[in-house]
Amino acid sequence: MYNNSKKAFSEAKKFIPGGVNSPVRAFKSVNSTPVFFERGNGSKMIDVDGNEYIDCVSSWGPLIFGHANQTIINSITETSKKGTTYGASTELETLVAKKIVDMVPSIEKVRMVNSGTEATMSAIRLARGYTKKEKIIKFSGNYHGHGDSFLIKAGSGAVTLGLPDSPGVTKNIAKDTLIANFNDIDSVIKLFNENKENIAAVIVEPIAGNMGLVKPKTNFLKQLRTTCTKFKSVLIFDEVMTGFRVSPGGAQQLYEVYPDLTTLGKIIGGGLPVGAYGGKKEIMNLLAPEGPVYQAGTLSGNPLAMSAGLTVLNLLKNDVYEKLEYISKKIENGWNQNIIETNTDAHVARVGSMMTLFFTNKNEINNYEDALQLDTNKYAKYFKLMLDMGIYLPPSQYECLFLSSVINENDIQSLIKSNKKALEELKNE
Ligand SMILES: *Cc1c(COP(=O)(O)O)cnc(C)c1O
Repeated sequence: MYNNSKKAFSEAKKFIPGGVNSPVRAFKSVNSTPVFFERGNGSKMIDVDGNEYIDCVSSWGPLIFGHANQTIINSITETSKKGTTYGASTELETLVAKKIVDMVPSIEKVRMVNSGTEATMSAIRLARGYTKKEKIIKFSGNYHGHGDSFLIKAGSGAVTLGLPDSPGVTKNIAKDTLIANFNDIDSVIKLFNENKENIAAVIVEPIAGNMGLVKPKTNFLKQLRTTCTKFKSVLIFDEVMTGFRVSPGGAQQLYEVYPDLTTLGKIIGGGLPVGAYGGKKEIMNLLAPEGPVYQAGTLSGNPLAMSAGLTVLNLLKNDVYEKLEYISKKIENGWNQNIIETNTDAHVARVGSMMTLFFTNKNEINNYEDALQLDTNKYAKYFKLMLDMGIYLPPSQYECLFLSSVINENDIQSLIKSNKKALEELKNE
């Protein structure tokens, strides 16, 4: 069933470290080897063995309209005929910037980059330049791309001085990243009290999507806002995942809490590599060439990515979010029903079209510590059972599903039926 994928993987391993260009693709956290894909169409992806899957990952978020959407493809094709990059200004960049400013409540000015990682790295540099302070606070279990300052987690809830997650991150960089607990404002206030004058920024995924889907508790984001204002620190919402996904204006619009800076990525590129960061004029105007904080990019704002992005943003009307809610709620309800009927220790967490089925006997996952208790072995088996039935889920218990608006009624029924079969099978083990 996966012969060609297996062959492709052993060939890839000869020339690419681990055979992949991004670690999660190797399927290691589900004790498996990767599927190699050949094409995508609407809600489906087809692998190199000809197996078809309903795609619940959407390239980790960007493909909110599914694969090979004709309008987006047309815009990329038409633009490419005029050349793919000039390394000089185009009006298209202003159109995209204006659209983002219109859609995201707290953004007054925005700078385009090429990935989410670049966006978060640049945002903290800017926050440091603006506040003239050095340390940042991040939350354990939150992911902000692979910049050195972010590859730090707390060894345990008690450890607040960051230890690098990866060799190659120096102790000196790690010491400027302080770790707080998600959904725990006291852990943030404690760090502020201990480092009174020196916290440049707090960066947070307003809805955490990188430890499975973890919702912010009521008031957590508001409390973060108040705390940052009080200590004159920049509040950064990393909306690389949630931006344009949970609402047209992202999580900040949904919860009505407004950060000073916002980082964007994924959906904004319409499937091409794009990131962006934006926020208050007063802060953004510190960027070169207007101000002293340097940040640049050879391909930043290139016409191909801008036309794909603009087309997607223009397509994101309210009815898209209604449709996504309808699809996602139906799947959630079906899966919850299956969980009850099979008496499985599990639950579904969901905000809009982002969701995770957690294998746990806890009722809620609220932070990284909770997430570490999840039954990842069970998830691995579940993932494989679903894959064999033609359902492509994230290859890790710590990632969420991103549903697209082209998932149809048949897909929904398959998703619910396959889930039931998989849970029954897991019971009989
Ligand atoms: C994906 C992601 C990033 C990194 O974006 P890349 O484009 O992969 O560099 C940053 N922050 C969050 C919240 C993400 O989900």
